[in-house]
Amino acid sequence: MKQPPEISVVAPMHNEADNLDPFFERVGRILDQAGCRWEIVCVNDGSSDDTLERLLDWHAREPRIKVIDLSRNFGKEVALTAGLDHASGAAVVPIDADLQDPPELIPEMIARWREGYDMVYATRRVRHGETAVKRTTASLFYRLLDRISEVHIPRNTGDFRLMDRRVVEALRRMPERTRFMKGLFAWVGFRQTAVYYDRDPRLAGETSWNYWRLWRLAVDGITSFSAAPLKVWSYVGLFLSLSALLYAAFLVIRVFVQGIDVPGYASMMVVILFLGGMQLITLGILGEYLARVFTEVKQRPLYLIRETRGLDADIRPHRPAGGE
Ligand code: UDP
Ligand code: MG
Repeated sequence: MKQPPEISVVAPMHNEADNLDPFFERVGRILDQAGCRWEIVCVNDGSSDDTLERLLDWHAREPRIKVIDLSRNFGKEVALTAGLDHASGAAVVPIDADLQDPPELIPEMIARWREGYDMVYATRRVRHGETAVKRTTASLFYRLLDRISEVHIPRNTGDFRLMDRRVVEALRRMPERTRFMKGLFAWVGFRQTAVYYDRDPRLAGETSWNYWRLWRLAVDGITSFSAAPLKVWSYVGLFLSLSALLYAAFLVIRVFVQGIDVPGYASMMVVILFLGGMQLITLGILGEYLARVFTEVKQRPLYLIRETRGLDADIRPHRPAGGE
């Protein structure tokens, strides 16, 4: 038992209390069947239900279930990073705790890993229980990102994958605070391959992703992996100035030919409003990048840990004598 585990499963958890029992039963059974030494690193990401209490219960019964309690909700991507930092397996498998990622795929991933792949990602075929709007927007986003970013991010692929220790160490060397995991996974390279599955609706509880959060994730993805939105404005500006110049020439010539006519108030308003809007958009985009530079230079820690169980050097909270 003192040997490091072969497989570390890392699960970020935000209000997942009702999913824990089926999750551990299913994942534990599959890992036992795969016949490898394993651990499950659970990161409690500031849950407001009794996820933490249940996790500690589970840890007491099954020491291979390890618990990291973050000091507050940091968001899934950072919670996942905390888990990756503390997983000790030769391969690491990030997975959603709501059983939307079928753990049944893990043996197949392990098999591909043993064949020599460094990263085996799970790609979903269909999305059950998701609206047509969500499907279309997701597909549009991936297509746009693919066009403008420097790395190819596999379509319909989440964080569910198996990574060799080398890949995990590479990821851990990326210091950025804006953790667009899909992009980071793709950026590291290594030998990658896919396994395919059908995605189920989440087992219990509610998704914490509303459209606003998805939009923010999309903006994070684009701004972390592409400078195109910064650069495109010089070309738009150039095009507009050239058109304006041509239009000015046309006006001058028309005055010579036809004489002065009624002042073009309407067209002037259109141009002013259009350019005003354009400048605001540009400023907003500069702001997006500037805000990211700002969060990076502050060099704050990515996450803070309140308590851990089952790790090499555990952090235990101070509990006053005589109960809570
Ligand atoms: N999650 C988290 N912190 C958050 C939001 C979500 O750790 O702030 C976890 C959540 O518990 C789950 C995973 O991230 O294990 C995916 O979340 P969710 O099912 O809400 O997202 P979706 O499946 O809709 O992408
Ligand atoms: Mg989910």
